[in-house]
Amino acid sequence: MPSPIDRAKHRLKRALRATLVRANGLGLGFLLRRLGLARGAGIVMTHCVGHVDETAYLPPDMKTSIEKVEALLRALERRGVRCVAVRDVVAALDRGEDAKDLLAFTMDDGYRDNYTHALPLLKRHGASGTVFVESRAVDERTVSWMHRYFLVCHERGEEWFVDEYAKRTRDEPTREKLLAARAGTSGRGALYDLKRVLKYEADRDDRERTTREILAAAGRSDDDLAPAYLEWSEIEEMDREGIEFGAHTIHHEILSRLEREEKRREIAESTAVLRRHVRAPVTTFAYPFGRPWDYDEECFELLREEGYACACAAIDGTNDPGTDRWQLRRLPLNDDIPLADVLAEIDGTLPLFRRLFRVRI
Ligand SMILES: [Zn+2]
Repeated sequence: MPSPIDRAKHRLKRALRATLVRANGLGLGFLLRRLGLARGAGIVMTHCVGHVDETAYLPPDMKTSIEKVEALLRALERRGVRCVAVRDVVAALDRGEDAKDLLAFTMDDGYRDNYTHALPLLKRHGASGTVFVESRAVDERTVSWMHRYFLVCHERGEEWFVDEYAKRTRDEPTREKLLAARAGTSGRGALYDLKRVLKYEADRDDRERTTREILAAAGRSDDDLAPAYLEWSEIEEMDREGIEFGAHTIHHEILSRLEREEKRREIAESTAVLRRHVRAPVTTFAYPFGRPWDYDEECFELLREEGYACACAAIDGTNDPGTDRWQLRRLPLNDDIPLADVLAEIDGTLPLFRRLFRVRI
């Protein structure tokens, strides 16, 4: 349990951050930018763009409203920042440019709304972006365990999901951990606490089989979930329109947990299938989940062998010429995260405060 002092510090940091974000929006951001204090290129990380029936079951942190993306594009236009693909940012960084007048817009997993909603919006604003494709979902129309989990929890609740998992799994430690996690959590946190157990603790084969059974028990199948994902014909059209595509593995597994050969297969095969459909070079990768413990240095080596130039992580911050190309930083934007937070990062307000006072906010 955090001490009262830690809790007070945490509250103070949150209040300070909120004040700085507000000040950025009230003009400090424009001032810092004019003074040349904005540094590096932002890369925004989203998943679904817009709210469609096919992804109604996904939680808010995987969706970004069209209004929010449009507000981002307008805010960038006011700042003279161009919205581009990751490859454009990396090319500028490789030339030694600071690239603070560029921002890359990325969409992970390969949802169909990236075509129906994001593409027209980006085109209207003369903008581009990068989509990272989870290849099995697109190529075989078979979704990951996580989507089965989210759908069942959305329709039947977490309680029911855990009851069913406990009944069907042969993975005893995970059964115990899930039951313990359910007992110790409630409300919206439950969805994430249980997901964390399944993500980091569960036996992969057992999880695949068990979530498939639970989905069937809920009267659903992968066929109900597949329409959430892009079709190859849509990917091909987006490629022709200048949208960049990168691989995101076959199964959306945590790469750092895999043996070298399996890692290689996840990277190489998801890339090969993408290269069969996309004419532009595939040189940008994104790690599933993307936290520093979800990938490792072996991934960098395998990506280089596969012809990649860079990979996106899920670490906050902007990117300058010195940023590790295998761990590009990204700023999340979704229904839970206000646009003002992203702007306070790219304008330099939050980074400047961190540099001056050496505080993590
Ligand atoms: Zn993903």
